[in-house]
Amino acid sequence: MTRISILGSTGSIGRSALAVVDAHPDRLQVVGLAAGENAERLAEQIARYRPRIAAMATGSAIDRLREIGAPRDVTIGGSGRDGLVAVAAHPDADIVLCASSGTEALEAVLAAIEQRKTIALANKEVLVMAGGIVTEAAARHGVAILPVDSEHNAIHQCLHGRARGDIRRLILTASGGPFRGLAASELEAVSAADALKHPTWQMGRKITIDSATLMNKGLEVIEAHWLFGVAGDQIDVVIHPQSVVHSMVELTDGSIIAQLGVTDMRLPIQYAFSYPERWASGLPVLNLARAGRLDFDLPDTNAFPCLRLAYRALEAERSLPVVMNAANEIAVALFLDGKLGFTAIADVIEATMDAHRPADVGTLAAVRDVDHWARDYARDIARGLESKV
Ligand code: MG
Repeated sequence: MTRISILGSTGSIGRSALAVVDAHPDRLQVVGLAAGENAERLAEQIARYRPRIAAMATGSAIDRLREIGAPRDVTIGGSGRDGLVAVAAHPDADIVLCASSGTEALEAVLAAIEQRKTIALANKEVLVMAGGIVTEAAARHGVAILPVDSEHNAIHQCLHGRARGDIRRLILTASGGPFRGLAASELEAVSAADALKHPTWQMGRKITIDSATLMNKGLEVIEAHWLFGVAGDQIDVVIHPQSVVHSMVELTDGSIIAQLGVTDMRLPIQYAFSYPERWASGLPVLNLARAGRLDFDLPDTNAFPCLRLAYRALEAERSLPVVMNAANEIAVALFLDGKLGFTAIADVIEATMDAHRPADVGTLAAVRDVDHWARDYARDIARGLESKV
């Protein structure tokens, strides 16, 4: 039995992970569940999976959970970061799936690493903010970080058993999102509702907007750098609208190894849970004849400058990725609230990055300081843009 704690159990990835548990009840057991605000869904999950510990983002969410009623043998581990840490570090967990969105899970991932738990990582912000701290801690404790993000999971599969010296380039595929092919001028008037219609993947709101701006791919370039120890100039992005090829690795002799599959997150999640084994899955098989054709194209960084900003942040390293990530979270939240235009997302991020002088961020406290500064600055910039509208 592999025992699993899930951070973000009521979200899209968390529910897919529980579907993987359903498919393998003889191999997988849930010991911890942490959710955001959805007390009703968490209560259902607790009743069904009977974890040892559960947590929620806020005290009021926990109050609702208690009102609905939870079995007596389930410990309520608290709210916010404390709750996430308690679920992640629970002594019975072997694998911690980090699928909560945003930056709240950072401490929990580090706590799990210190307890020598395998990390199945679906949250890219953790590595974008603190890639050096997290990968150094994982190496020190001999802990594996298994990527669940479909592109990185694909690269992990393509790299399997290969020497580092054999790798020339990583090639991340991107669907291009709902606005692929639109020019910068045509993007001025798009709405949050338009941006939330992703062509190939069903995901949470924040990551769906990131896919529309291509910031998601930018975050993934930084994530790939930390996961695989490859420099930014050896990580390419190619637009591939069908999302059939999940990513590729180019070897020194020019061979390219690709991983293909259906667009279903249960596949990479199960791989992380079963690794290094492979288990049968009940998932539909990719039918290439039905897919018909696979297209590839260069990304348009004029229309989608967020990808360019991410390369810039990675090149500068140190604190600039933290600033970029924080400004992006603020700008995306304002866009979802209808308070910021789509193209202004990149403007807010770039202005915040321009105003920052990169510094070393070797501790979580330093990361949090830069993060707070960038959020405040991005909010001010966004307010200025609003008043101009
Ligand atoms: Mg991805």
